[in-house]
Amino acid sequence: MLGIVRAKGAILYDEHGVEYIDAIASWYTSMYGHCNEYILEKVQLQMAVLDQVVFSGFTHEPAIKLSEELIKILPFNQEKLFFSDNGSTATEVGIKMALQYHFNLGNKRKVLLAFEEGFHGDTFGAMSVSGLSVYNGPFEDYLIEVERIPAPTKDNIGDILRQLSERLKQNDIAGFIYEPLVQGAAAMKMHDAEELNMILDLLKRHQVLLIADEVMTGFGKTGKNFASDHILVKPDIICLSKALTAGLMPMGVTSCTQQVFDAFYSNDMAKGLFHGHTYTANPLACAAALAGLKLLQSEQIQKDIRRVISSHQAFGVKIKRHPRVASIRQCGIIFALDLDIEMERYGNLRDRLFNFFMEHGVFLRPLGNTIYILASYTITDVQLKQVYDVIELAVDTVV
Ligand SMILES: *Cc1c(COP(=O)(O)O)cnc(C)c1O
Repeated sequence: MLGIVRAKGAILYDEHGVEYIDAIASWYTSMYGHCNEYILEKVQLQMAVLDQVVFSGFTHEPAIKLSEELIKILPFNQEKLFFSDNGSTATEVGIKMALQYHFNLGNKRKVLLAFEEGFHGDTFGAMSVSGLSVYNGPFEDYLIEVERIPAPTKDNIGDILRQLSERLKQNDIAGFIYEPLVQGAAAMKMHDAEELNMILDLLKRHQVLLIADEVMTGFGKTGKNFASDHILVKPDIICLSKALTAGLMPMGVTSCTQQVFDAFYSNDMAKGLFHGHTYTANPLACAAALAGLKLLQSEQIQKDIRRVISSHQAFGVKIKRHPRVASIRQCGIIFALDLDIEMERYGNLRDRLFNFFMEHGVFLRPLGNTIYILASYTITDVQLKQVYDVIELAVDTVV
């Protein structure tokens, strides 16, 4: 276990003073760079005014302002926000919203639909809808009822739509949770907006609530503010975390439409969504999020996003030709390449790659035989080149 003592911009400094380029933005959170001066200043100001207060019966300006700013940039049909304190709770709340929405309306819809190989977090609801069984094996007997469909491709979309149409006749599916366009934990597996849109359209016409898990894809990573901005059919519920607070504080937000909200709005207590965490809407997290939103919408960051996108495109053209690279893919600033090798024969490849990258001053976390880059928008061209060079060197020498 390596001790990290300091971070600035795209650089992590370890306990021995060695520097590493954080090429995955510490799990896609610190997208404006570590210890960003603007964000630090805003949080420090907030810290001296109101640090933490119960968010039950009370409200506060940072939460109100953040709600207003988020609603402005979220897909147009999103009207209400529910605060929690991490990505798993953001999806957990989304799942509970979808199930209770139908419960409150008296619908008998108890089944959730999810993508194979999805990842939505580590709490029980989130685990249930996640498809990577290595994480969830011991708990399988305790999970809620979930059915899975494959992520769409040009080849399987016809079959998916046919089978879904048949399945939907039972009118028992409450909601569909999906990572739009990019499935992060499934090694940055990508699908097209067009095919996803067909699935969402079919489900929407059958009153299945659409829960977009944008915990990873949110806040500019796909080239637009949200992955759902690329897709015509808008979600009923959106889950947000990770880059929401620019990598400074943990927080989760689950947004929903007026229609979803209205199913809970009642004088009958039992209709309410009873879910609250002690640090819900923590003022410092709200201040960090507000500062992050300001940066995201700044001309400079938008320029940086375009810069990183075209830089990755140029690298892609080059590395694609390498004989050991099977395929490349890119969505916004998310870049991934698959190595053309048998995983069994190279069982410890992931560790060897990881160690090689670290020895060369770059922090990357390969998944299986996939190497992906998801660096901050503010990573410099020089740093990006170092990341590309070390990947090339690894593909040449380690594989
Ligand atoms: C990281 C992630 C989560 C879980 O967030 P945590 O804050 O780690 O609980 C959920 N969904 C997606 C898509 C994620 O990438």
